[in-house]
Amino acid sequence: MTESRTAKYKVITDDVGYRFIFYCDISDAHVCTTSRIYHGNSEKEALLVAWQTEGREHFNRCHKCGRWVIDAVYNAEVLECVECAPYEAEPKYCKNCGTKIEGYFKICSCCGKKLIYEGSAASNDTKGSV
Ligand SMILES: [Zn+2]
Ligand SMILES: [Zn+2]
Repeated sequence: MTESRTAKYKVITDDVGYRFIFYCDISDAHVCTTSRIYHGNSEKEALLVAWQTEGREHFNRCHKCGRWVIDAVYNAEVLECVECAPYEAEPKYCKNCGTKIEGYFKICSCCGKKLIYEGSAASNDTKGSV
């Protein structure tokens, strides 16, 4: 199956072929400019080759919305962009007794209830598996 969608890009055309500049779909940050010149029957064809060869490896794909984003706006724990899966804030108050939590504690200093840190249970590092 061919990946037909790429991140945002700009094309630089000259008489020998195409070069591409890729940008993050969310932050618009400049991610990479292809070092090679790509040839193809069309810009689209050259783009796909350039993307597969040089662009894609710099990006993470959100499994929810399908956008290509850089590490800074990618929540790797759930494989989604931060717009689909914002980083969970640490709990500020105990959900049981309401005591204010200062610092990183696993157990409430007041009632002894375990504090829930969203996302902390995920500990798989199977990045790169298909
Ligand atoms: Zn997303
Ligand atoms: Zn408590």
